[in-house]
Amino acid sequence: MAAYSKRHYGIDSWRLVDPHVIVEHYTAGESFASAYSTFAADVPDSELHELPGVCAHFIVDKDGTIYQLVPLTTMCRHTVGLNYTAIGIEHVGTSDAEILANPRQLAASLRLTVWLMHRFGIQLRNVIGHNESLTSPYHRELYAPWRCQTHGDWSHADMEVYRAKLAALARRYAVALGPPARPVTPRC
Ligand SMILES: [Zn+2]
Repeated sequence: MAAYSKRHYGIDSWRLVDPHVIVEHYTAGESFASAYSTFAADVPDSELHELPGVCAHFIVDKDGTIYQLVPLTTMCRHTVGLNYTAIGIEHVGTSDAEILANPRQLAASLRLTVWLMHRFGIQLRNVIGHNESLTSPYHRELYAPWRCQTHGDWSHADMEVYRAKLAALARRYAVALGPPARPVTPRC
């Protein structure tokens, strides 16, 4: 991870220090076991053949069980351009809508995310979907061919629904939300 971080961010370290962003994902599969084995396989990517393989700090299963896979002091490779400062949360499922429609999974996800906001002082506007990665003010990528790379999981529209629910939960526990989002134009 230190070698990846050096190549893509110019940071010669695998340590996640003072994270500013939380990225929500879904696994595009229907079970925790398949998500776990994908991460455990630790397969290099097909383009640069780099390790570590893809990973996430947490997986939220359909029944609301939260699994932590990686310590919050370690960078994880889940979002091109943001891994140096982002905590990754995967959800077992094949669409944003499926997770938004599952009350147990959604409640667990929101509680985990609001706790992370509180723990690290992460602002609501920096809780994003993977598909919003290119418009994050924290996005940076030294390897030019990947500068515009993102994924389809968690669209802006669905994240607006997610963030509204998150804001309501944060207010209930007096967790600071921070200022409103400012528009960022992707450098693509
Ligand atoms: Zn993703």
